[in-house]
Amino acid sequence: KLHNTIQELKGNIRVFCRVRPLLPDENDESSTLISYPGEEGIELHQAQGQTYSFSFDKTFGPDVSQRDVFTEISQLVQSALDGYKVCIFAYGQTGSGKTHTMIGQPDDMDQKGVIPRSLEQIFQCSQALRSQGWSFKMQASLLEIYNETIRDLLAPLKSVGGDTTPAKQHAIKHEPTGNTVVTELTVVEVNSWEEVSSLLRQAAQSRTVGKTAMNDRSSRSHCVFTLRIIGSNENTEQQVQGVLNLIDLAGSERLSKSGSTGERLKETQAINKSLSSLGDVILAIANKDPHIPYRNSKLTYLLQPCLGGDSKTLMFVNISPDSKSLHESLCSLRFAAKVN
Ligand code: ADP
Ligand code: MG
Repeated sequence: KLHNTIQELKGNIRVFCRVRPLLPDENDESSTLISYPGEEGIELHQAQGQTYSFSFDKTFGPDVSQRDVFTEISQLVQSALDGYKVCIFAYGQTGSGKTHTMIGQPDDMDQKGVIPRSLEQIFQCSQALRSQGWSFKMQASLLEIYNETIRDLLAPLKSVGGDTTPAKQHAIKHEPTGNTVVTELTVVEVNSWEEVSSLLRQAAQSRTVGKTAMNDRSSRSHCVFTLRIIGSNENTEQQVQGVLNLIDLAGSERLSKSGSTGERLKETQAINKSLSSLGDVILAIANKDPHIPYRNSKLTYLLQPCLGGDSKTLMFVNISPDSKSLHESLCSLRFAAKVN
């Protein structure tokens, strides 16, 4: 209970920093010297002697396992079953470990990430709550926001004459009941992690179809997994409606504006706009501003009911440890420190 009180005092926005290990093809000399004072601090040491210090709700170094990361968020995930609206974001430059943190290797006991672990926990707990009269309906959807346009990642991939059929147009509607509806979006009722797992595979396939030769679309779009949880208790007639949003954000790297034209420039602008809008919204919520600028991007408008109020937000800021990434790492840490 003490823990809860502390959380209430701190508000409903938390930021966790995670630094991935050096990859096999990166060598030791290329690593930035990073130290981890306490459980929350992180310091980047530049060769010239400059040190940059930051502090978050928690900082995970390269040796922290997927399991240990999940331990720190399992309560937050659990609150979606209690009827809270929860958003968990992964923010960082391409290659910093966002997808590893959110999905990892779903079929590997050690390497599976937040989404598999969260869903396993939710299904397990919802089963256990049956003995107390609870029954739950779970609805999953998966979408991508690319260039400020929503694409349904669970729409059947139809090919007509070698061409994919034109994608449906999706609009975001906030209903008076507090529900958000994305028009024409596929929503699938799910009863087990295995069912969700096959949806993730389908979505991954759908994302590669949209990938062009020039750029990896998955790093330039936001991927939003949403689980809506509708629970009712036959003994007490209690009802709960929780939402769990798990979001793998577009890469935060400064894409050089000078060199880009046409489609690429549009992409760059869309990414910058939505990431900075997300930062603005989280900052406004943290500052308890009367006006929260949700409407400035599709992402924040979509998640509006799940950001602010009594909903709960966690952002992972993912960091690459190599020295080439130092500048981007500093940008990410500054962004995250601003919203923390
Ligand atoms: P992003 O989604 O941010 O572009 P990825 O999650 O794809 O980055 O990570 C880039 C690479 O680093 C992948 O090969 C991934 O497996 C690896 N990686 C990321 N984080 C970790 C980690 N904590 N432990 C081990 N490998 C990691
Ligand atoms: Mg990724």
